[in-house]
Amino acid sequence: MFRTEAVDGRARAGWVETDRGRVLTPCFMPVGSRGVVRLLSAQDMAALGAQVVLANTYHLMLRPGVEVVAAMGGLHGFTGWDGHFLTDSGGYQVMSLPCSVDDDGVTFRSSYDGSWQRLSPESAVVRQELLGADIQMVLDVCTELPATRGALVEAGERTLAWAQRARQAHSRPGQLLFGIVQGGTETDLRAEYAGRLVEIGFDGYGIGGLSVGETPDEMAAALAAAVGELPAGLPRYLMGVGDPFSLMTAIGLGVDMFDCVLPTRLARHGTALTSTGRLAAKAARFATDGSPLDPGCSCGVCGRHSRAYIRHLFNVGEPSAGRLVSLHNLAWLSQLVLEARRAVLEGRFAQLARAVAEVWGPRVPPGVQAEPLG
Ligand SMILES: [Zn+2]
Repeated sequence: MFRTEAVDGRARAGWVETDRGRVLTPCFMPVGSRGVVRLLSAQDMAALGAQVVLANTYHLMLRPGVEVVAAMGGLHGFTGWDGHFLTDSGGYQVMSLPCSVDDDGVTFRSSYDGSWQRLSPESAVVRQELLGADIQMVLDVCTELPATRGALVEAGERTLAWAQRARQAHSRPGQLLFGIVQGGTETDLRAEYAGRLVEIGFDGYGIGGLSVGETPDEMAAALAAAVGELPAGLPRYLMGVGDPFSLMTAIGLGVDMFDCVLPTRLARHGTALTSTGRLAAKAARFATDGSPLDPGCSCGVCGRHSRAYIRHLFNVGEPSAGRLVSLHNLAWLSQLVLEARRAVLEGRFAQLARAVAEVWGPRVPPGVQAEPLG
């Protein structure tokens, strides 16, 4: 169930309601593919105020196996995280590996031990029911961009057929099932597939296959075309996108949920997200810099540690360095998304999107009108 509290342009603030409780939107979801956000704990997630953690069926079906997770009380019992979990079907990971896709499913080799594995629309549903997340995603066919129209149509039709089968297979009460809109950068395909997915009927809609090499304009156009066909009364989730500029673009087009490995991956490589852009925390110039990663950030890391200290930890190879920057980056991005939520509630989203675009974007996001000159 989704409730809209306020709309500002096409941007919206609201909440998704599940049996576990409410998820305030817009919402950024940290990625914990193997049941943990790398270097962090469930306790850290709670301290960060994270609402939803994303886990991945591909990884968990191979290690430790969905039956093991189910026997331990599902993802919540197993990991100790009592907030929301969303599970991805694993299609994206599988299709990035050598694999063969047929009408019935996909065959691939495990990246853990090389064994042959099979994932079908039905088995992806059953596995995610066993994992016990609050929200599960259908198995879809991902296409690398650029792709020919023929390849996009083939993937799109198969994705729709699989979505229909997943809808029929899903039976776990209290667990939401989201469909996924594909269609690459072809706006007419995005609109058509979104419309046909809505006819099948899901609890929410993911928009997949974006931020894979297309231009920001192409992404915005594909997104707008898909969102235009999705019902206002259900949540919309842009999958795998989390850079500040794209977040603002998508929120401005009416998207509610996001996930991305970017903040934690950048952190482990020594890059902090800050209000003035990316900061290379390993840089020698910070050797005696007593200021926090971002003086404007209210996170626990910025409240306690200097750039000099974090730079030192990276310099001597302490894993805590990546951990501290991961905590900061997730807190920073959550603050940004919360700020977007407040801006929508207060009717000043366009202003915020412009300010973010000045630091993070190539230009003003599409759909956001420039202020008149003078
Ligand atoms: Zn911070």
